[in-house]
Amino acid sequence: MKLLKEKILQDGKCFEGGILKVDSFINHQMDPTLMKAIGIEFVRRFANTKVNKIITIEASGIAPAIMTGFLMDLPVIFAKKKRPNTMKNYLSTTVHSFTKDRDYEIVISTEFIGPDDNILFIDDFLAYGNAASGILDLVEQAGANMVGMGFIIEKEFQNGRLLLESKGIKVESLAIIESLSNRNIKIKE
Ligand code: 5GP
Repeated sequence: MKLLKEKILQDGKCFEGGILKVDSFINHQMDPTLMKAIGIEFVRRFANTKVNKIITIEASGIAPAIMTGFLMDLPVIFAKKKRPNTMKNYLSTTVHSFTKDRDYEIVISTEFIGPDDNILFIDDFLAYGNAASGILDLVEQAGANMVGMGFIIEKEFQNGRLLLESKGIKVESLAIIESLSNRNIKIKE
């Protein structure tokens, strides 16, 4: 996606430990026009996939997921990082966050996912694949089917794709970062 790559090169900032900060258009301030284009691109990439529901994780996955869900006319569920007391029947798993260097629990109510569902997972970043593996675990616990995963930005050097593809998942990323060495953003052509 040309527009996305230009934006990353123009506004992205590299941090220690292979972290890319894109706070000005994805993770804090958001760019709805870019987000709409991202949704359109996900629709195109998963056009031949049978999906009836989209899943993401709060918070930064919600914007691209809702755009994609709007365009596909499908419901969007976000896995919650804090379980409300009112949620009685739920599935949960633990995810390791390398950006925050801690484990956290994610939950989904069993009300919204079940064996008839064909799920598309959408998120902002693919790094080591921990968040995506957590979602896959929830989808499998529900007896549902994961049909694909779409990421706005993939950091190729952290090898999340290898992990997910080894589990048979179709992975699509709209911008693939080859390296962030020496604070220099290198994007795959
Ligand atoms: P993974 O679970 O694949 O290791 O990391 C993916 C999750 O961590 C994403 O949901 C995203 O929120 C966060 N993340 C990983 N790497 C980065 C990064 O370089 N920049 C930002 N902003 N978030 C990241």
